[in-house]
Amino acid sequence: MKILNTEIVKGKSYELVINVAKLHTRNSMSVPVLVHRAKKDGPVILLNGAVHGDELNGIEIIRRLINGGFHKPDCGTIICIPVLNVFGYLNISRNFPDGRDLNRVFPGTKNGSLASQLAYQFTTHIAPHVDYMIDFHTGGADRVNAPQIRCAPSDKKALELAEIFASPFIIHSKTIGKTLREMMNKMGKPVLLFEGGKSCIFEEDIIRNGVAGTIRVLNHFGMTKDRPEPKYKTVTLSKSSWLRAPFSGMFHVTVKNGSRVNKKQELGFITDPYGDFNKKVRAPHDGYIFCVNNAPIVYKGDALFNMGVAAHEESLMTRQDD
Ligand SMILES: [Zn+2]
Repeated sequence: MKILNTEIVKGKSYELVINVAKLHTRNSMSVPVLVHRAKKDGPVILLNGAVHGDELNGIEIIRRLINGGFHKPDCGTIICIPVLNVFGYLNISRNFPDGRDLNRVFPGTKNGSLASQLAYQFTTHIAPHVDYMIDFHTGGADRVNAPQIRCAPSDKKALELAEIFASPFIIHSKTIGKTLREMMNKMGKPVLLFEGGKSCIFEEDIIRNGVAGTIRVLNHFGMTKDRPEPKYKTVTLSKSSWLRAPFSGMFHVTVKNGSRVNKKQELGFITDPYGDFNKKVRAPHDGYIFCVNNAPIVYKGDALFNMGVAAHEESLMTRQDD
């Protein structure tokens, strides 16, 4: 196995780099890539963080796995890229300095935008070696995700691994064009996309959930003897849609993220600053709330709650996903 022009020998660790750019400050920007290949054969697993530079929980999840020695498996190879979008991470920003979203430019091009060039290097030098990837994300802006694994319903291997990961939710979600997940899926590689918490902060419960789930997946492949007991009975949601703000105003959330709700149950309310306007936001059908927008001010049409249903209750949903 040769990664980034380096021969990866059994029983050894490597700290490689993807060279991204030479800056006008005369500094070079590069992405560290940690690789450890065990003496015994096994799968190659990539743990990938911060495709979006402000999604910090995943960085800490991978850091703790490295700190705990889980990046040195009993068999196979583990590749750790805790921070793929180094530019965004430095600025605690989702995107590249030119505003591009790294997760919308895969597979990238050799001479494209800076984000596209990094995507191209990843696609060319990292992706071909990977058997399975766990890609760590959080909700964007003020949106808070309950811990969940997102998989394409057609990706049977990923769904099987998602059950082993055992986060509170598995969400069936189609891939979005030009994402890292779509590129990997097109190469035939199963991807577990972990979503947990929100951007720009570290959240202890989310981090613990991500660490424990990853260890369970590594255990499944015989890469570690550890196997933390799952704390949740995973709920699989086959259909989901956003519940949008029916009014503009100050938004107050009353429902607990991750909870089961009944049709017409109050989820929150919207007020104006002058005392007499107060409108409740109610669940349009029975289901589960797995993402909450914590923005204090919302406009009519803003996404407030992501709500899903299990396969046997799809008929409950009256709204169309948009
Ligand atoms: Zn993300």
